[in-house]
Amino acid sequence: MQLGTYSIGVGDRFAHQAKAQLEACILAARAGVEVIPVWNKSNREHTIIGSAPSSTRAAADAAVKALGWPRPYFCDADHINLGNIEWFLAPCDFFTIDVADYIGKPAEPSAIDAFVSRRAELVGAIELEGVDRGIEITPDLLHATAAKFLFAIQEAGRIYSRIESVKGKGSFLAEISMDETDSAQTPAELLIILSAVADEGIPIQTIAPKFSGRFNKGVDYVGDVAQFAREMALDMAAIRYAVAHYGLPSNLKLSVHSGSDKFSIYPAIHAAMKNFSTGVHLKTAGTTWLEEIIGLAEAGGDGLALAKEIYAEAFDHSAELCAPYATVIDIDPIKLPSPAKVSRWTSDQFTSALRHDQSSPAYNPSFRQLLHVGFKIAARMGRRYLDLLEANEAVIAKNVTGNLYARHIVPVFLGGKKPATKKEDQHEPVASQS
Ligand SMILES: [Zn+2]
Repeated sequence: MQLGTYSIGVGDRFAHQAKAQLEACILAARAGVEVIPVWNKSNREHTIIGSAPSSTRAAADAAVKALGWPRPYFCDADHINLGNIEWFLAPCDFFTIDVADYIGKPAEPSAIDAFVSRRAELVGAIELEGVDRGIEITPDLLHATAAKFLFAIQEAGRIYSRIESVKGKGSFLAEISMDETDSAQTPAELLIILSAVADEGIPIQTIAPKFSGRFNKGVDYVGDVAQFAREMALDMAAIRYAVAHYGLPSNLKLSVHSGSDKFSIYPAIHAAMKNFSTGVHLKTAGTTWLEEIIGLAEAGGDGLALAKEIYAEAFDHSAELCAPYATVIDIDPIKLPSPAKVSRWTSDQFTSALRHDQSSPAYNPSFRQLLHVGFKIAARMGRRYLDLLEANEAVIAKNVTGNLYARHIVPVFLGGKKPATKKEDQHEPVASQS
């Protein structure tokens, strides 16, 4: 079982947008690029919403059937570990093995020593194809990286074995994620980590490191774009080296978590993929839920009223809603409009504050981020929310598909013009499709 070169993780909090999401991949196919859809939902999201992984599978299967999608598609058990994996095993065929909690826990000293002597060949200057300057690994760095990551990789091996014992060899895809941690992994660390993954016999097809810069939920990248571009190129070069030297799957690629709405870095991602003849897995999730709210607001009437009600509730419970996401949101409380003010907004005022169009003066990233973490409010509304989703399916679907295709797939995978970002000439020519 193989993941295609280009793939997109689509989260669907309420399991109502699978068709609209798949439409975006159909548009990509029509434009000449295969983008494989992967429906991802984490244990945390299932728990908050009160859904089960089997519902994600059912929605994906139904969408694929309804639209006659002839290519592969997958269901991703996102950010799992041995503590929560069991209910994902039957419905999922893609497993994001999350080892972030185990980083820094020490492996047996003898295992660290054995790893360090086995990988002595990594010490020194390593020339990497495709980048001007390679990487340098000192004996201290090799040892420190083993001390920091070896236990986590061994844990990934235990999780992988559990999945394999149930699913069978070769019948699922494996990813290792290390993004939900404090510090970014350097390309040198990534290479050492990959060699350890190979030792553990985990045939990962995607790996999600933590990159430098901030990947806040639902808003643009915050950081040095040029540095990100250099880092991504070195990561891709390190992956290529690890595939050649340690026998990892030849289609191993980077997975970019919290990848939605990072418009500033999409040109760099596209350029790096072209340079290395590789792909990425772009993982998105909450951007679709925000399009549901935009669609409801655009519909007016009861839809707009419900969108306003969700905002008012989110405003009142912002501390509780933001707490689990503290490291991945940056809300400026001063910029949040009062619910009383929002209650007087027209459809257009609501959607222009929420829609991720940085060229619009009305766009409000704080408003957007608060609603991003506010899906718990909609979950509590239960049928009331779902009934309105169903009643307004067409207008919501238009927004969901358009967002994924025009703002994500086109700039990342087709190399088209990226969506407007701040401080930028809005009249830059459309990049030629490459
Ligand atoms: Zn992640």
